[in-house]
Amino acid sequence: MSIDFKLRDFCYPVDLIRLRRQFDRSQWFSPEEFDVYQQQRLEQIVQQAYHHVPYYHDLFRDLSLRPEDIRTANDLRKLPTLSKATLRREYSRLQATNRGQFEPRLASTSGSSGEPLRFLLDKPSRVLEFVYYWRHWSWLGYRLGDRFAELSSNFFVTDASRVNEICHHQALTGRLLLNSLSIGPHNINQYAAAFLKYRPRFLKGIASALYHLSLFLQQAGAEGIALKGIFSTGEMLLPHQRRVIESVFNCQVLDSYGHMERTVAVSECRSGGLHINPEYGVVQLEELPTRDGPSDFGSRVATVIGTSLHNFSMPLLRYEVGDVVELAENASLCACGRSMPRVSRINGRQEDVIVAPDGSVITTLFIVFDKVPGVAHGQIIQEDCNTLRLRVVRNSSYDSNSEATLLRLVRRFVGPQMQIRLEYLRHDEMHTTGAAKFRTVISRIKETNKATSFPEQLLAKVRN
Ligand SMILES: [Zn+2]
Repeated sequence: MSIDFKLRDFCYPVDLIRLRRQFDRSQWFSPEEFDVYQQQRLEQIVQQAYHHVPYYHDLFRDLSLRPEDIRTANDLRKLPTLSKATLRREYSRLQATNRGQFEPRLASTSGSSGEPLRFLLDKPSRVLEFVYYWRHWSWLGYRLGDRFAELSSNFFVTDASRVNEICHHQALTGRLLLNSLSIGPHNINQYAAAFLKYRPRFLKGIASALYHLSLFLQQAGAEGIALKGIFSTGEMLLPHQRRVIESVFNCQVLDSYGHMERTVAVSECRSGGLHINPEYGVVQLEELPTRDGPSDFGSRVATVIGTSLHNFSMPLLRYEVGDVVELAENASLCACGRSMPRVSRINGRQEDVIVAPDGSVITTLFIVFDKVPGVAHGQIIQEDCNTLRLRVVRNSSYDSNSEATLLRLVRRFVGPQMQIRLEYLRHDEMHTTGAAKFRTVISRIKETNKATSFPEQLLAKVRN
């Protein structure tokens, strides 16, 4: 999720400016003012769900609830949570019967779970998304129209002729797209040259792509690239990644967290506070039992439950986002002065990266599954420096062309030396690891080379 700066987003300038003005004011709201704001929005969304969404109408009836019974965030607990499995199963009945007036568009994601998930996002939700990012970026001085660069994979994989391009400049929007699929020691100078030519002031990308770009620039001794701010999205930003990125680009990185279904948005302020945006959605953090023994997490962790406040064509109430956060222990006001609630850490999706035999890093290889007809579910496992396993669950539209397309796409990214092993599985065979969260990309290189950090150790190999 991000400001996408598609020209069609500028079709609603009045709505954008109105909501931006509101967001400028509301970021300084007191907790009580946020409660009032959420109640007003919640009332509209619950009325919409009850009167126009068959799934919710039936659910309310079965629970003997009326829309008036759900006025506050706390009242939402009268409803059961909505799982991704239910969203898949009830996709049709979760669509509002009056959705047409909200200009819905179909969206889908397969990134974090590997299983496709479809949903509708409408005009109010698009306006929200744009303004949410616009405000967050403004915390580092961004103004609409400023030149910025974006690490992207989707743009370059959608058009086969672009897959080997380093960058693409869109003069109209001032956006420099950088190919995140093929960053490596062999071409890092071309990335550096693009920065020097187009002089973006801001950069955004997923954490691992930002990190690898920065690392290779650092190793190549690239100098003279200074930015005003960087925005990390889509993955947990690790402390060592932040250090390298900030030192290479000589500016602050702000982290953010959200998901395509748009019920939850968390954005980092300049003081390092990870703020939940109460105007975006109602976020409920359901604390998990403390685990015995050593834990990856801090003492108090919670799963994230989110409720849409702006998406009328398919409102999601009490949606199980599927990510885990650490709760903030310090309840004092953030140094930035905002009273938006905070979490202390986001332990969301953390995709592993794939490293090609030539040292190139591929951060979002899982998107190939979206490009091949008939892949119901996919997983990528890098066993060692030269071996990649593709595990695929097929559906009825998969055929020999699908297999050829999949292998061709993967080969294009990982280069000629990588051995690719394609395995077909049943759905239940894909989920036998017992892990709490399915991982679409797994790298076992890390696990077998714990003595040295990764990918620095691979870099050393490439350099010697
Ligand atoms: Zn803050």
